[in-house]
Amino acid sequence: MKPLVAIVGRPNVGKSTLFNRLARRRIALVEDIPGVTRDRHYWDVECEGRFITIIDTGGFVPGEKDSLLQQVREQAQLAVEECDAIVFVTDARAGLTTADQEVAAYLRQSGKPVVVAANKLDSESQLVQAHASEFFRLGLGEVFPISAEHGLGVGTMMEAVVGKLPPMDDEELAAKAFAETALDEPVTEEDEAAFGYVPEGEEGEEGEEGAAPAATPIGEKEAEGEDEEERPIRIAIIGRPNVGKSTLVNALLKEKRVVASEVPGTTRDPIDSELTYKDRKVILTDTAGIRRKKTIAHRLEKFSVVASLKSMERSDVAVLLMDATEPAVDQDAKLAGLAEEKGRALVIVVNKWDLISTDQRKQELFREELKYALKFVHYAPIVFTSALTGAKVEKVLELAVELADQFRYRSPTPQLNRLLKHIEESHPAPIVGRGPLRVYYMAQVGTAPPTFAITCNRPEGVPDMYRRYITNQLRKTFDLRVPIRLLFRERP
Ligand code: GDP
Ligand code: GDP
Repeated sequence: MKPLVAIVGRPNVGKSTLFNRLARRRIALVEDIPGVTRDRHYWDVECEGRFITIIDTGGFVPGEKDSLLQQVREQAQLAVEECDAIVFVTDARAGLTTADQEVAAYLRQSGKPVVVAANKLDSESQLVQAHASEFFRLGLGEVFPISAEHGLGVGTMMEAVVGKLPPMDDEELAAKAFAETALDEPVTEEDEAAFGYVPEGEEGEEGEEGAAPAATPIGEKEAEGEDEEERPIRIAIIGRPNVGKSTLVNALLKEKRVVASEVPGTTRDPIDSELTYKDRKVILTDTAGIRRKKTIAHRLEKFSVVASLKSMERSDVAVLLMDATEPAVDQDAKLAGLAEEKGRALVIVVNKWDLISTDQRKQELFREELKYALKFVHYAPIVFTSALTGAKVEKVLELAVELADQFRYRSPTPQLNRLLKHIEESHPAPIVGRGPLRVYYMAQVGTAPPTFAITCNRPEGVPDMYRRYITNQLRKTFDLRVPIRLLFRERP
């Protein structure tokens, strides 16, 4: 699991400014999704060699009735419960306030690593005059003078933050290794030869006809010996409070008979349940953290966002539950967006359907509307269930297992390049800059989610339309109903 670093502080101290500055280091693999990216309050970023998720807690707006102090306190609570380290932002020009002291008191109790940022120190002279030293009185240790707006001191501060994180675990290492391969793995001459690539100018415009790929492409090298069937399938059950997550988990466990009963994790981990489905081992990760702290969670939707982030981080498939009687499309869409962004396979479950109707047409109408509202995850299957009566709950498992396999699917390279050829022939290459886009070959560079790389002449300018077109062709060809990542890159 990637470490979570929360940015906490009272309003107006510069949390969002700092967050946006840090977000510039976001991992390039994460694609911006229209409609979801706009009001984002978390990013996966690379920071001093670590892969972390940063969260701007100020972005989660608590109930309007709450007082300012209460809001700040709730943000701090969120940080305390869920994060690995905290950046506590203060306004060094305004000096120490009561709200700062309130938050500091919480943070001290928590025992979580905290770094204090004395913000808005935009120049040397301000540094000298500033009240930065006041903030030592908070008893949270070292105070870092920064200017979030101008980027001063931010690097030094983040070094200290990273220094306080738990050591890298295997999953973070894997994420790091993967991002590095996917983005930087040089294309060798051997690779080029394998795909019949002909350097520009050496042959006719179209390259050679029918040069069959012969070598192992990038990404399939380690394929042998791996037994995917042995690997448990991890499913994260996510959704707003009260949509029926626990009821669904219980229904699934009852139906499939529990193999190992609930395995409580550490105090911070969600509770995992294990079951078998058609001889496959399945681990359900419930966002149980939410349930344990129900009183807070019910008031704060943000908890479900953070908890969902965390449980999705460790899963192959996210099962997103919504309540048929209470569609809250904005919030549900946010969670669906999280799944797409995290590159997780997604099953959309419309629960409590028993309360709506048995009318098939009504279901189709609902499905159409939902598909439209959640266009950015158009590939995700939708099931209508009743966790209470058990109707269609098995279908959820069936789909999740199916998607988990697609998620780790490796496509045969010759087929990929035949597809590319077909695309070239049936769809005119877009003009990029001064000339046509020329695609040379395609390889799958990763799974979970399936990630493809196309080597071409002008990777920066590939139009979105063309990118979507190819993505959809890949979907159709390999029947992939999971997120797909598509990278365009130049020959080195
Ligand atoms: P938030 O409410 O804590 O997220 O604060 P914002 O990031 O929205 O910033 C509040 C105000 O402080 C904005 O007008 C920012 O432009 C300003 N601000 C943020 N960082 C700095 C800084 O380093 N120097 C100065 N001079 N202003 C800053
Ligand atoms: P969670 O907060 O998402 O875990 O939701 P719960 O599983 O605790 O369910 C919230 C409420 O909805 C409970 O009263 C359940 O009995 C009820 N509920 C859950 N699933 C269904 C369903 O499919 N149909 C109906 N009618 N009620 C349901």
